Amino acid sequence: MKLSIDMKSGDLTSEQSKDIIVGIDLGTTNSLVAYIQNGEPQTIISSHGHNALTPSVVHFTDEGSIEVGETAKTHLISDPDKTIFSVKRLMGKSYADIEALRTSIGYEIIDSEDQELVKIKVGNTFHNPVTLSAEILKALKADAEQHLKTPVSKAVITVPAYFNDAQRQATRDAGKIAGLDVLRIVNEPTAASLAYGIGLDREHKSNIAVYDLGGGTFDISILHLEDGIFDVLATNGDTLLGGDDFDRAVIAYWTDIHNIAAEQLKSDTALNQMLRIAAEVAKISVCNGMVYNNKVREYELYLDNPTFESLISPLIEQTIDCCILALKDAEMRIDDIENIILVGGSTRVPLVSRRLEEVFGKKPDNSLHPDEVVALGAAIQADILAGNRKDILLLDVTPLSLGIETVGGLMDTIIPRNSKVPHRAGRQYTTSVDGQRNLRISVYQGERDLVANNRKLGEFILQGIPPMAAGLPKIEVHFIIDADGILTVKAKELRSDVHAAVEIRSTYGISEEEMALMLLDSIKNAGDDVQKRALLEAINEANNIILAADKFIKQNQQIFTNDVLEQLKSLNDNLKTKVSEENKDAIELAMKELNDYSSPLAHVALDINIQKALKDVSVDDGRL
Ligand code: ADP
Ligand code: MG
Repeated sequence: MKLSIDMKSGDLTSEQSKDIIVGIDLGTTNSLVAYIQNGEPQTIISSHGHNALTPSVVHFTDEGSIEVGETAKTHLISDPDKTIFSVKRLMGKSYADIEALRTSIGYEIIDSEDQELVKIKVGNTFHNPVTLSAEILKALKADAEQHLKTPVSKAVITVPAYFNDAQRQATRDAGKIAGLDVLRIVNEPTAASLAYGIGLDREHKSNIAVYDLGGGTFDISILHLEDGIFDVLATNGDTLLGGDDFDRAVIAYWTDIHNIAAEQLKSDTALNQMLRIAAEVAKISVCNGMVYNNKVREYELYLDNPTFESLISPLIEQTIDCCILALKDAEMRIDDIENIILVGGSTRVPLVSRRLEEVFGKKPDNSLHPDEVVALGAAIQADILAGNRKDILLLDVTPLSLGIETVGGLMDTIIPRNSKVPHRAGRQYTTSVDGQRNLRISVYQGERDLVANNRKLGEFILQGIPPMAAGLPKIEVHFIIDADGILTVKAKELRSDVHAAVEIRSTYGISEEEMALMLLDSIKNAGDDVQKRALLEAINEANNIILAADKFIKQNQQIFTNDVLEQLKSLNDNLKTKVSEENKDAIELAMKELNDYSSPLAHVALDINIQKALKDVSVDDGRL
């Protein structure tokens, strides 16, 4: 089979068949796949239920298997520590970022020593947001394959407009693990606009407000469209406001009427689950012009639309305030906005469009299903990438990802493949050894997780970093691709202003066939790569902890009893053994055990050492 690659789209084309490219809305609450049939976008019906939407929920059964979607959702309340929801909120986030979320989540989230991503502990296994999202994507892929009766290996995936580089990269990685070649990451509001046909005509110039109210999040984005390019002018919103809050308001109303105490609801998970389901059904009923009347156990549950609207009105007003702020940030007046697009299941609440019409003075677009528009738009973007819409010009894009080598020979992608050219992206790094003076920066091109499998483009050394403790230097690495496709890589230590740069010409110095093979290779080996990467990351982290623990034991001999020191040593030795055995979950467990035991000790040691230091001061200068 002969393979070739389209330099414009970076897309693989085989002469034998033209693969289908699907569009995926990977949502916080629900996910959906769409594709193009006879030129029109269509959604895929999930195999898990009558509904096309697949709940973004992953459940680990006691037997060790994984369920996704509707079946997983039924375990949310009965088996909370093994049922992972809202994983999108954790994408690309550190433990500190999500501190506030932890109280509302039933599963266990674990801090890792470095500033890396969070982990999720289920029984004795460790997962991360990327692998969990990959489980959702795998299920969507399988559904799509069953529905379309053909293998699906290429996709466009959407993310919120405010997602940063790390969150976008995490989403790409999730796709890769699921066996998908992610041709592009598209902003959700851009996809929604495309679904409404906005942006398909290159002459068209417009300002668009995309109002997205989902299950647990609210986003407002102000976009400007010109020359076929969507610019995100401003985003605003509330990451903890959505349809779930409407349900909670209804539950609070009922429990108030029936004098059900909060503690009772907490201990009676069955009642809790029934009320949650009833509240959502009641909400949807009244939004469809009906009155809800039902009995759960001995409780009469009633809801009508006026009551519902009075319950949620303050929440809707919060979203309106966000819209006004976003307009201000975008430096726009209300009448500068030509289109208001409704996205997300919760915009089916009639009060939403009524209030938006009052505020913006025009009717919002709602001719498409609000919970489908993002997926439909992603399918259109996929179709454009597939070259099926000849009238739409694509901008030049980078055909392969560009990045640098980090500890353990891992590839850290800085500019993902299919990014628009010209392009600029950067990331901060630090040193891993005390007093490190030089840092070698090796630049690679390719999709594999280990640089050894990618193509080296060049390297340079940042020299003369002033000696500092490991982790202190702030080294910023910048990749700049100009309009001619020439890559310049710059590195700078921010504390000392030491800098260096290298220019790499001929980024496209490989044949198209070679490039096609590299891409295929990356998809074939994604599973392997991810496992290797996870193991290497665990080993790197463990080695740091082992060094720190050794140092801690040595420095605090006088503070702790022998028993404590022995226990620390034995936990540390256990971690060393697990590292040598190269078993990722065992390493993570050993790290957690050492960490759980040593954290309180570290606090004690710190207190004692501070007291000592204060005493020393008082002796030295005699002021106290
Ligand atoms: P996300 O983007 O967060 O994944 P969705 O866009 O799928 O979420 O929205 C899910 C929310 O929409 C849920 O809170 C659900 O109850 C709500 N919803 C779905 N249909 C309706 C309806 N007909 N009326 C009111 N709310 C609805
Ligand atoms: Mg959504």
